[in-house]
Amino acid sequence: MRLSAAPFVLLTALVLSPSLHAAQPLLPEATAYTSRDSWRQPIAPFALADRTWYIGTEGLGAVLVKTDAGAVLIDGGLPQAADMLLANMRQLGVAPSALKLIVHSHAHIDHAGPIAAIQRATGARLVTNAESAVLLQRGGFDDLHFGDDMLFPPAHADRIVMDGEVVELGGIAFTVHFTPGHTPGSMSWTWTDTKNGKPVRIAYVDSLSAPGYTLIDNPRQPRIVDDYRRAFAVVRTLPCDLLLTPHPDASGWKLGESNTPTTLTCRAYADRAESAFDNTLREQRDTAAKGKR
Ligand SMILES: [Zn+2]
Repeated sequence: MRLSAAPFVLLTALVLSPSLHAAQPLLPEATAYTSRDSWRQPIAPFALADRTWYIGTEGLGAVLVKTDAGAVLIDGGLPQAADMLLANMRQLGVAPSALKLIVHSHAHIDHAGPIAAIQRATGARLVTNAESAVLLQRGGFDDLHFGDDMLFPPAHADRIVMDGEVVELGGIAFTVHFTPGHTPGSMSWTWTDTKNGKPVRIAYVDSLSAPGYTLIDNPRQPRIVDDYRRAFAVVRTLPCDLLLTPHPDASGWKLGESNTPTTLTCRAYADRAESAFDNTLREQRDTAAKGKR
């Protein structure tokens, strides 16, 4: 074993010159992102349809679609879910090298967190849109609403898709629908699987919430309200026999209790989200009006 004296020399130098930079403030402490326990609660993978499997945690969606040409992963949850996802894939007969594509909903730590690690472990290609690619590459830095509070390992895009584009693997066509608002690059994905001999049109629809967002006169996203309105309209018309959302409980799943829920329709999901959005908007308009009086 080779010992290096360097750490000792460095330490001595620091100890001997304590006042050299004493007047300067400390650099900021790293801020950790804490989350609900259910978001970190592993559950056994289960089938949503013949080729489509839920492999996420109780509170954060991750979906695996097995095709004849390899598998597709949709979302991953938090960064610390990477090993769990790889183990779940293996359990379903998908070796790391068989994962070919990663697609996702939006570039926040609780959905895109493990993408970089999964890319590294599998070599799968990450498919995203231009808006999300920027945020993924920055690892969440300078988020329009959260600043630098929700950082995650940066991931690089391998393919940029446009609204309505189809990504195909092994005979399954995944259509991307831009549903901006929660992030400017928010995406929803639809594809058709089968169950009990019948086609099932599955919609993995992005978050439509506006958690703590400034909706009026937001200098970073001046057209944020228009963006949300567009997303609500798009979601209402999606092919949608089975709805799943990045936060499963938002679409009626209670995965702590059951894997066979009565989920919302896409229309009901959009309606519910729009009325919550309208309430927030009304509150912010009232507050703004009071401020001007
Ligand atoms: Zn989010």
